[in-house]
Amino acid sequence: MPPDIEGKKVYDLLILGAGPAGLTAAIYGRRADLSVLVLEQMTPGGEITSSDHLDNYPGFPEGISGVDFGLSLEKQALRFGAEIVFASIEKADVLGDIKKISTSGGDFYGRTVVVATGTVPNLLGVPGEELLRGRGISFCATCDGPFFHDGKVAVIGGGDAAVKEALYLTRFVDQIYLIHRRDKLRAVSFLQDQILRHPKVQVLWDTIVKSFDGDQQLEKITIENLKDSTTSELPVDGAFLYVGRIPNTSFLNGLETDKQGYIITNEETETSVPGVFAAGDVRRKFLRQVITAASDGAVAAMMAVDFLEPI
Ligand code: NAP
Repeated sequence: MPPDIEGKKVYDLLILGAGPAGLTAAIYGRRADLSVLVLEQMTPGGEITSSDHLDNYPGFPEGISGVDFGLSLEKQALRFGAEIVFASIEKADVLGDIKKISTSGGDFYGRTVVVATGTVPNLLGVPGEELLRGRGISFCATCDGPFFHDGKVAVIGGGDAAVKEALYLTRFVDQIYLIHRRDKLRAVSFLQDQILRHPKVQVLWDTIVKSFDGDQQLEKITIENLKDSTTSELPVDGAFLYVGRIPNTSFLNGLETDKQGYIITNEETETSVPGVFAAGDVRRKFLRQVITAASDGAVAAMMAVDFLEPI
């Protein structure tokens, strides 16, 4: 065991992010007897806690709420003795033998690191988006859907998230405009079938948002049809943006990433830096799902064990 640094403990395993990847890594790390600290800036459970219902995780035949799933993961990690500190990560120096993570709650040291910080929502970069964020523009249907009871909302995007959350919003609102830039949805066919036949949903194909308009509150969206280049105004009470996500890695230096910033790993979650592993949505991978995040977390923790105590 290396000596403490500046009187602070050096953990065997520092985990950045308490989503399904990070908390699974914590469970596996503790079960292998590593000292484990998880750093999380928001609530445990990660992105799935903003989803109303997790329907495709094996072992839950009726599905489970995202919040309940997140809380269960946290409880399980704590039961095995993982420590969790809530602080936002400002800088990660991971190139040396001892990795230093600087946070709003102080510095933390580890011999290995699992980066499991997930992704943040992508933005459209159009006028009004920043100003009306939280004033009619939302990134979380589960959190904000009930505010739009009997109203009209737009959902922007054509992937799984946009379609799944639009379906969730049909519980509250009268009318949903699904605004998609192409003439074909990206979402899986199971979700497409449901949205395309839902009476409350009108899909605006080949359409982009030009601006979000309103003084203090979103009042309308200016849209353009890309096929005929016509512009029109769509009066709405709310708009939910699901136009993809970007990896949460701004605090990191020295790790190899792809063009979009996703961390490049091998199948064993090893990054380009020895002792640093990446798990879950933040790494370049084929399928971003809760189950693949959990799988990554388990692999990353066992790779950390192997790194610390090679057989
Ligand atoms: P995504 O699959 O990347 O879809 C993003 C959507 O936004 C695409 O339809 C894309 O259009 C559109 N888009 C991107 N940039 C845009 C722009 N600048 N202007 C207009 N439209 C834009 O992202 P996601 O839906 O957030 O899903 C992310 C990952 O999580 C995926 O792997 C997904 O499978 C997974 N997920 C799964 C579930 C589930 O229930 N199983 C739920 C949520 C998310 P194009 O189609 O034209 O590219």
